[in-house]
Amino acid sequence: MLRNDQLAEWDRDNFFHPSTHLAQFARGEMQSRIITGAKGCHIEDREGNKHLDAFAGLYCVNVGYGRTEISEAIAAQAHELAYYHAYVGHGTEASITLAKMVLDRSPAHMSKVYFGLSGSDANETNIKLLWYYNNILGRPQKKKIISRWRGYHGSGLMTGSLTGLELFHKKFDLPLEQVIHTEAPYYFRRADQDQTEAQFVQHCVDKLEELIAQDGADTIAGFIGEPVLGTGGLVPPPAGYWDAIQKVLDKHDILLIADEVVTGFGRTGSMMGSDHYGMKPDLMTIAKGLTSAYAPLSGSIVSDRMWKVLEQGTDENGPIGHGWTYSAHPIGAAAGVANLKVLDDLNLIENNRETGAYLNAAMKDALGDHPHVGDIRGEGMMCAVEFVKERDGRHFFDAADKVGPQVTAALMSRGVIGRAMPQGDILGFAPPFCLTRAEADEVVSKTVEAVKAVLG
Ligand code: PLP
Repeated sequence: MLRNDQLAEWDRDNFFHPSTHLAQFARGEMQSRIITGAKGCHIEDREGNKHLDAFAGLYCVNVGYGRTEISEAIAAQAHELAYYHAYVGHGTEASITLAKMVLDRSPAHMSKVYFGLSGSDANETNIKLLWYYNNILGRPQKKKIISRWRGYHGSGLMTGSLTGLELFHKKFDLPLEQVIHTEAPYYFRRADQDQTEAQFVQHCVDKLEELIAQDGADTIAGFIGEPVLGTGGLVPPPAGYWDAIQKVLDKHDILLIADEVVTGFGRTGSMMGSDHYGMKPDLMTIAKGLTSAYAPLSGSIVSDRMWKVLEQGTDENGPIGHGWTYSAHPIGAAAGVANLKVLDDLNLIENNRETGAYLNAAMKDALGDHPHVGDIRGEGMMCAVEFVKERDGRHFFDAADKVGPQVTAALMSRGVIGRAMPQGDILGFAPPFCLTRAEADEVVSKTVEAVKAVLG
């Protein structure tokens, strides 16, 4: 086995890590961490440290680590047929079965699923499909996409543009001009503190109407949103938000893309976030929970009304010019089939609902009155603790104080992994759905210790 110092040197010298301070890492100012194994909600590193992973990797290992049903399905698929493509009507038993399983779990008006590899590429697919759709319908000017500030939709050229977080735009010449942003449904951070939730929803609607009037509905193809804002701060929408937004979109014939990369397959406590909030999207983006990250796989689910136009498009123009070598990769598809079975067989969405509610209630009991905790919020197996300098009037800490990252580090040193969300001092939790009450208690008690250590 390689020595740890040898691996660390190779890591520094050769490996370009995503979302990492490259210079600090190359200079050895940041520790590399090499993960060697995991089981249930716990991961283990090469130094022998064990952590309770209360963020499920990147909120993706939904069924928990070490599920042999899935690893065995992957191995069996690799032995039998590691690869064949899905172009010109080809498929495998796994990819066809998974397509049916996905549609069975999606709203009734959805028609087909296209399989990709990541949330980012699935969103790129969705935007291309929207453009194609409007071209086939003879309205080539209807192309812009509305996204929300603080939305997260990936980090490609288009998807990085859709993402409404500064870090993903700065110095990359993004956003592209086809993307326009509107208000985030973030009630806690509303500018007007006197607004009720209902008034704030109306404010979001007014802002959207303003943007549409400014650019012209005939130039806008779609609106993309996560049912619950994820990376932007784990923010469930205020009551009535999706209903009110959809009315505006319908009025202007702007199609809705529900980005369900985080919420899809149970994270909110419902199978899909769209069901949870009564959304009626024309496109849905799925990834993480589709395979619980046991293999890379994503999907773009297309509604009946869009599908009809796509068919018309290929009758008029020939085969659709879109596809990846690894679309519907059999190993990813086998992982997806096994993962969705585990989700059902172990009633994990039900456990998610119960234990997620328990975690949120316990976190509120333990920290709700802390002078530097401004908000504790969540939905299903998601929970966020937002830190403030002063509770009255919601004065925030300077980003340079790095309060969120400090609390997250203090928590990690106590054996629990949360995530410092990238914008604001927000500690996020999104554990695997198999979290037990005892593990939820541990997350809460260690969070209390970490908050006390950093903020008193
Ligand atoms: N959409 C949402 C809502 C996400 O949270 C993410 C990733 O976290 C993505 C899209 C991008 O997915 P990927 O990182 O697999 O490209």
